[in-house]
Amino acid sequence: MLDWSEPSAPLRRMPPPVAAPAADQAGLGAIDRGGARVSVDDKRMINCRADVNQLLPLKYKWAWEKYLAGCNNHWMPTEVSMQADIALWKSRDGLTEDERRAIKRNLGFFAASESLVANNIVLAIYRHLTNPECRQYLLRQAFEEAVHTHTFEYIVESLGLDEGELFNMYREVPSITDKAAWALKHTQHLDDPDFKTGTPAADQAFLRDLVAFYVIFEGMWFYTGFAQILSLGRRNKMVGIAEQYQYILRDESIHLNFGIDVINQIKIENPHLWTKAFQEEVRAMVREAAELEAAYGRDTMPRGFLGLNAALCETYMHFIANRRCAQLGLERVFAETENPFPWMSEAMDLKKEKNFFETRVIEYQNGGALSWE
Ligand code: MN
Ligand code: FE
Repeated sequence: MLDWSEPSAPLRRMPPPVAAPAADQAGLGAIDRGGARVSVDDKRMINCRADVNQLLPLKYKWAWEKYLAGCNNHWMPTEVSMQADIALWKSRDGLTEDERRAIKRNLGFFAASESLVANNIVLAIYRHLTNPECRQYLLRQAFEEAVHTHTFEYIVESLGLDEGELFNMYREVPSITDKAAWALKHTQHLDDPDFKTGTPAADQAFLRDLVAFYVIFEGMWFYTGFAQILSLGRRNKMVGIAEQYQYILRDESIHLNFGIDVINQIKIENPHLWTKAFQEEVRAMVREAAELEAAYGRDTMPRGFLGLNAALCETYMHFIANRRCAQLGLERVFAETENPFPWMSEAMDLKKEKNFFETRVIEYQNGGALSWE
């Protein structure tokens, strides 16, 4: 949080210092009137001393490209028809009790999680990531998380669900609370106004938060959540929610890849942080997260249903956990396994699914270039 009580520098006392003043990593400090122009080489992911208000020259093209990709994927939940879902949800025997339980828990998990992820971006990550092109992406991502939270508001409203039950699941359903609490412990001290990066311990704490939210929350737990709903969608159940989840999945796959790129770039610039002990710590985090997810799977699907059960979800989590380790350059944490949901990779590549582009989303894609004539 900003500390407005901080006395502003005595601006009238001239002359200005020749060297840049103490690094202004927030970008809201006193303007360095005599400072040199930013060169690409001055830019850094964390602890940067170059002006964070200068987007150009770009250093991390991958971050800018993800910002553009996110903008091209714009969608709104209200563009998806909920008619079939409403009819099925209200029908007496269109869904089994097990399916209803899994759907509600899934919605309850996501409803609060989108908000946790958004708060972590805005209140913890943004402050410490000292690069304008990465911040540009974070601003886009923050908006996408708002769209995702909107999705759950729209689903609750469309199906007439109990909003208190759904939005409190992260506090009231232990298997969901365990996951949220596990992630939150890595972000809690980062929003402390006194927390500053710049020491190996603080920089590693920041890396842990990036791992917890990008790699584990968005990159592992969300994926079993997507698999649950998309598997129902494949059987023509809750097709509106399934379509919305495909759009969310498309957004989340960019969030995940951005997070992986951020962590890997911080590693390149700060090799002293990526010690053997720290690598083992990250692997332990991934392993523990997979176990929490397995417990959530058993709780959500105690008996399982067609095409989906807790054991399959656990196998899928092991497959995903190993993949995330590989993306971070770490050794895998589980025995090599096959992907039990090979159809998930097709769901991830929306362009193959022609019907999803017959909605207004295609118009956003084409409407990118404005004509001023
Ligand atoms: Mn999201
Ligand atoms: Fe996300």
